[in-house]
Amino acid sequence: MQKIFLYNTATRKKEELKPIVEGKVGIYSCGPTVYWSPHVGNMYAYLFNDVLVRSLRYLDYEVKQVMNITDVGELSDSGEDKMEKGAKREGLSVWDVARKYEKEFFESSELLNITKPNVVCRATEYIAEQIELIKKIEINGFAYLIDDGLYFDTSKFADYAKFANLKLDKLIDTDREEISSFKKNKSDFALWKLTPKDGKREMEWDSPWGKGFPGWHIECTAMSTKHLGDVFDIHTGGIDHIPVHHTNEIAQGYGAFGRQTANYWVHNAWLTGKGGRKMSKSAGDIVTMQELKSMGIEPLVYRYMFLNSHYRNGMEFSIDGLKNTIKSYEKLQNGVAHLPDGGVVNEKYQQKFINYISDDLAIPQVMALVWGLLKDTEIGDADKKATILDFDRVLGLDLGKVTEEIIPEEILKLSQERIEAKNAKDWVKADELREKIKSLGYLVEDFKNDCKIRKLVLS
Ligand SMILES: [Zn+2]
Repeated sequence: MQKIFLYNTATRKKEELKPIVEGKVGIYSCGPTVYWSPHVGNMYAYLFNDVLVRSLRYLDYEVKQVMNITDVGELSDSGEDKMEKGAKREGLSVWDVARKYEKEFFESSELLNITKPNVVCRATEYIAEQIELIKKIEINGFAYLIDDGLYFDTSKFADYAKFANLKLDKLIDTDREEISSFKKNKSDFALWKLTPKDGKREMEWDSPWGKGFPGWHIECTAMSTKHLGDVFDIHTGGIDHIPVHHTNEIAQGYGAFGRQTANYWVHNAWLTGKGGRKMSKSAGDIVTMQELKSMGIEPLVYRYMFLNSHYRNGMEFSIDGLKNTIKSYEKLQNGVAHLPDGGVVNEKYQQKFINYISDDLAIPQVMALVWGLLKDTEIGDADKKATILDFDRVLGLDLGKVTEEIIPEEILKLSQERIEAKNAKDWVKADELREKIKSLGYLVEDFKNDCKIRKLVLS
């Protein structure tokens, strides 16, 4: 077992991971709210989770990863229920909306080679556990009931502000998704929301406090502790979860068990648009994996792009930026595909690789190491391949599956244009295109009913 250091938000330090049970790591990852198609921005967090899990497994830890699916009533900034909003938009039931986008989420994950968590749990299937946990918090004196629900009294937890360095006296309503004029403190949050007296919701359950639905934060505390124990090793999520969601999860853990549930809180930064501005649909930044495919961009190119950023720095994203990455990704694929099999992993490079991943997942350095290895004249070609494929257990780029030469999109397009020119008997244009393809390093060979393209080998 190799030591690994991770940045722990709870201590604001890079710390050595010391699992509760030696050699085993329990991870809980905040999963998606399934009310809309997952896009590149959402998937960044799951790519980070995947690289974390793969790295731990590479280092011989036995990992149990649990992830939730929020398929119930998370309130949006405007106080509107995201699931019901999705249902209204599409004329579906909230249940159908949840299943539809859950499916899309896992399809997107698969396109990005993201390993499925060991346990995936839907919030709606753990209502009894959530109610039990809320009861515990209430018995311990951390909850109070008002008109619209049962709330967590944050003033009872002295360290409430500590995790996120919150300035509680400066909190404004809009910092919190729940606005209720009856709350005792602005930072208090709902454990159980009650259905309005004369209303009816599509998703509602009976509870000791009345008909309603669980607050958003309780599902994570209930399901993480159910599957990993009252205290477990790592909790992951995006940095946006620090001030509200994870702060409240910590409060709930304290209210129920008298302590923090996770020992290490590891957070990923986010994608931004070009120049660091906020991502936006209108600027074309917010695209799904399916949309990438329809643009002719292999989703793994996005994974490759992610690997060149550090999870705590986030990444600037644009379609142009992604397109610029394709060449480098194809170069890597071709570089590996050309190497012969039958080598052994180079220990010197492997040690460097281990040092990088165990230093808070320094993946960009790993990518530089891979390029360095490809150019290293002292290492045999077969050994290069064995070593890179060994690293690919963490990188997840499927480099071992590439056996044939990949012809770049641009060349394929030119070749198609040439075929069309030939069919139209425009020989001049066809010849021009052949020359153009040649100038880009590829040779077109005509056969009876077919043409083949291959890379020119320059001597
Ligand atoms: Zn969560």
